[in-house]
Amino acid sequence: MEKIKMVTPLVEMDGDEMTRILWQIIKDELLLPFIDLNTEYYDLGLKHRDETGDQVTIDSANATKKYGVAVKCATITPNAARMTEYNLHEMWKSPNGTIRAMLDGTVFRAPIVVKGIEPVVSKWKKPITIARHAYGDVYKNVEIRVPGPGTVKLVYTPADGSEAEEILVHKYEGPGVAQGMHNLDDSIESFAKSCFEYALDTKQDLWFATKDTISKKYDHRFKDIFADLYENSYKERFDTAGITYFYTLIDDAVARIMKAEGGFIWACKNYDGDVMSDMISSAFGSLAMMTSVLVSPHGYYEYEAAHGTVQRHYYKHLAGEETSTNSVATIFAWTGALRKRGELDKTPALCNFADQLEKATIDTIESGKMTKDLALITKLENPTVLNSRDFILAIRETLEQSL
Ligand code: NAP
Ligand code: MG
Repeated sequence: MEKIKMVTPLVEMDGDEMTRILWQIIKDELLLPFIDLNTEYYDLGLKHRDETGDQVTIDSANATKKYGVAVKCATITPNAARMTEYNLHEMWKSPNGTIRAMLDGTVFRAPIVVKGIEPVVSKWKKPITIARHAYGDVYKNVEIRVPGPGTVKLVYTPADGSEAEEILVHKYEGPGVAQGMHNLDDSIESFAKSCFEYALDTKQDLWFATKDTISKKYDHRFKDIFADLYENSYKERFDTAGITYFYTLIDDAVARIMKAEGGFIWACKNYDGDVMSDMISSAFGSLAMMTSVLVSPHGYYEYEAAHGTVQRHYYKHLAGEETSTNSVATIFAWTGALRKRGELDKTPALCNFADQLEKATIDTIESGKMTKDLALITKLENPTVLNSRDFILAIRETLEQSL
């Protein structure tokens, strides 16, 4: 069989620990035999980040801006323990944070749904994708502990020297707390744009919710920016695509989600997205079945698994023990990136391959062959538990039968 050709290189960001091991097996067994894989390789493994003073992370983000599509392996975010473990020169920042800041993107997280692994919420039949605004609010707040009686005010001093605006937060009779938060029209607009674009891209309805009835200026600004952008730039395209934009209050959204079938995107403010994405992923079964894509308003895409480097399994692997680590989300990061590359380059063979590999992965699990994490939660009787490598080999077998 002739291998599938790629026109433009895909930016490949390698990573750490167990996911780095899976990365190589996925490439060797599921990609290289079928595709003339054209990637521009960046090693974001912690050792190499340290050797390059983290320049490799910046280079990989710039390459993503150049080519448009990247696929990323999970990476270690250094902490005190990693400083010693890897003898690091510096406690480098999270690569995801660096890349996100450079691409100005929104992260969309979606569960991979398979028969036999049923969501805890029995109504949910299709994935619910969470889009989290990753700037500002409580994550960039300032807080004070008010020690005793006094006043706290919010003051805006215009840069042009005109009169300052001042409002009272609270007149304290005794001790308490106060906090100040902010957000930016530009950032909210980028977020909204990424959400509308991704909804069109994936042909899914878009929901957005805030608490605008209570927060009449702050949350209301989010509501207005979404509404203006929708009316002025997206309504027609949504109508043509047969999808809808739906705004409601956050509590109403939560109530409706529990009764919905899924199959839509739920755009969330920063805090709502933080909290709700953990609820959605655990209710759908497993973090190992959750994909993640960073979509920038400029049209750049970076695909990855939502989970980390699975450190505990890696140490078992190093000790020579067998592991049964789930590679599904990492496989779907590759298929997502290859499909997007195929769409942009107009190479349908690449898109078809991505579809077939995803189907082979799901079919393999539905036939009863899976990793340990899934075997523990599946409704299928007597599942076959495979080790990390054999699971990928089983997918290859299914794939070869279908090609
Ligand atoms: P983790 O790698 O997501 O793993 C936490 C636990 O979840 C594992 O010990 C395992 O549970 C289970 N799990 C996660 N993915 C799995 C998979 N594919 N197959 C089977 N089980 C899976 O989180 P962590 O251990 O807290 O973090 C490890 C490293 O990853 C850290 O250095 C962190 O900085 C990094 N991290 C990176 C990213 C990223 O690059 N996007 C995201 C999060 C964390 P059992 O042990 O019970 O089997
Ligand atoms: Mg969280």
